[in-house]
Amino acid sequence: MASSLASKFEVLEELGSGSFGVVYKAIEKESGTVVAIKHIDLESSEDDIQEIQQEISVLSTCASPFVTQYYGSFVRGYKLWIVMEYLAGGSCLDLLKPGPFSEAHIAILMRELLLGLDYLHRENKIHRDIKAANVLLSGTGQVKLADFGVAAQLSSLKSQRNTFVGTPFWMAPEVISQTTGYDFKADIWSLGITAMELAQGEPPNAAIHPMKVLFLIPKEPAPRLVGNRWSKDFKDFVEKCLNKDPIKRASARELLRHKFIRNAGRTQLLRDLIERKQKWVGSQGGRQAHPKLYQATMFVLAFLTMLTRMLIVAR
Ligand code: ATP
Repeated sequence: MASSLASKFEVLEELGSGSFGVVYKAIEKESGTVVAIKHIDLESSEDDIQEIQQEISVLSTCASPFVTQYYGSFVRGYKLWIVMEYLAGGSCLDLLKPGPFSEAHIAILMRELLLGLDYLHRENKIHRDIKAANVLLSGTGQVKLADFGVAAQLSSLKSQRNTFVGTPFWMAPEVISQTTGYDFKADIWSLGITAMELAQGEPPNAAIHPMKVLFLIPKEPAPRLVGNRWSKDFKDFVEKCLNKDPIKRASARELLRHKFIRNAGRTQLLRDLIERKQKWVGSQGGRQAHPKLYQATMFVLAFLTMLTRMLIVAR
């Protein structure tokens, strides 16, 4: 059954890779539809896989123009194949390679992401992994949130093996402290960090070891955009996202009314970013930058828990 499903697709080139596996471009032979397929190595039990597949089938029913569409999943050999909508523009992390984005582009991206988050939050869903790598663009500049739900499923699977694969840089203070449960406001914090990532090319604290960053986020004041490179409205938008108190932090709905968002331009302008990347790839002759330390960091969950306890005691 699974191998017959796999034979329905012709796998083309590799699109990129993340902490869980490699993503390929593929064609569904019968319809000619281009899709993206994520291959994930299976080292876990049947139950875990069933749980992930269950999650993916739920996600397939989740339809929004702002969220990457999942079509389904199946197991082939030692890999789980997740079939999803193909987004030709690639991720914002790829698009950042030629350099940081302008404020005008960031404002459009933020508006589209807020529309996506408003949709998810109203459906009582938390994304949990907002960052430039999980923001995909279609060929025409439409913005889609990716890795929703699956990321959370996979992380819990990894944490069962006592290894947490994650990136602390975008994590809200209340998520790290684990003192209380956290809610959809954690996504707004990560959105603010993503805005800074798009403006500066990397998230705050990128040069610091991830383990130390886990201490810093709950302890230090929230990061800010400083200097006269950015407008008052943009700085204020970031400040509204990065309130350390989740109760006082603005919601997606509220942020959609912010001046920085209300003045944002048309989505089609994001095509500039795709063209800029294509030109840059041409000028590089295919050379790729080295992956940065912060892109995929593994650390032991037990250690994280220990650090958190120390933090709470130190308060
Ligand atoms: P991590 O898994 O560590 O969070 P990530 O989100 O970058 O990192 P993947 O989701 O595996 O990792 O994606 C890897 C790359 O594959 C992306 O950066 C993007 O370039 C490409 N990609 C992923 N999904 C799609 C898609 N639906 N359409 C087109 N390209 C995609």
